Amino acid sequence: MAWYPGAQKLELQPESDAQEAIRPTQFILHSIAAPWTPQRTYEYWRDSTNLESHFGVGFDGSCAQFIGTQTRADANYRANARPDGTGAVSVETASNLDATDPWTPAQIETLIKIGVWLHQQHDIPLRICRTADDPGYGYHRLHAAWSTSGTNCPGDARVQQFREAIFPGIVARAGGQRDPQSPQETVVPFALGEYTGATLSLPPNVWTTLTVGRQDLISGAQSYTATAFLTLKAKPGGVLQGRFYHQKADGSRWDGPIVERICTEGSSFADFTHAGSISSGETVRFEITYAPTSALDTAPATITAARARGLYWK
Ligand SMILES: [Zn+2]
Repeated sequence: MAWYPGAQKLELQPESDAQEAIRPTQFILHSIAAPWTPQRTYEYWRDSTNLESHFGVGFDGSCAQFIGTQTRADANYRANARPDGTGAVSVETASNLDATDPWTPAQIETLIKIGVWLHQQHDIPLRICRTADDPGYGYHRLHAAWSTSGTNCPGDARVQQFREAIFPGIVARAGGQRDPQSPQETVVPFALGEYTGATLSLPPNVWTTLTVGRQDLISGAQSYTATAFLTLKAKPGGVLQGRFYHQKADGSRWDGPIVERICTEGSSFADFTHAGSISSGETVRFEITYAPTSALDTAPATITAARARGLYWK
């Protein structure tokens, strides 16, 4: 049984004696969705559930170990113990109740130290797990096989910290080279897919912000690519101008480039695309204006369908 010397030993029984041995090949990080000390986490594992992690880390970086790292702990579903005898070492960390807060600097320091010790003690390779069974380092939501029905754990802010601070910190502190086979972290984007068949009248030469399901098409993202597809009726030769813009919380905005489309006989089908990064608190919206061929023409264009499609990264 291996016990990390930097942790307070709070051994869980009967699990510590009863559960099977593993050969640890992975380290998986979690948020416990509670602002708990390691002692409180220990009491929860002991008294309230038959699940458990190997480690608990409080906001102040304090650390306890509940089970030896060569014994199975039940925090990561299929990764806990595999038929070939390997398994994952798990750490639960204090967080807010929604697990949306970042790790504190003290937590980051402790997580790096545990990660370095696991590399030295168990030879866990310095790479991010490429598959659910691949030896290396990861966080709970990285692979679907690590949770019973999907999870957001440890939360967006902490996934970013894992990529930018914790994993690079473990590699640097372990004095090793990042495994050359380690891929850059791939993040699955969120999808934008909204449709409306509501009719919208576009009076000439007025910018109108479209509502396609919602006005704020993308919120809470860091970057995106989006397209507005419009079906509309207007006089042939009329000109549509469209642009995406970023609405800031203080009411100001950033305007994207204008794209022009010409109206044709019958229905017109126009598309407008933009890709970019978004500052914190900004939302992405789309607006359009219609110019008929004659300044004397006051008839509106009529949008009969609108789709917003895209991908965004939080
Ligand atoms: Zn988790």
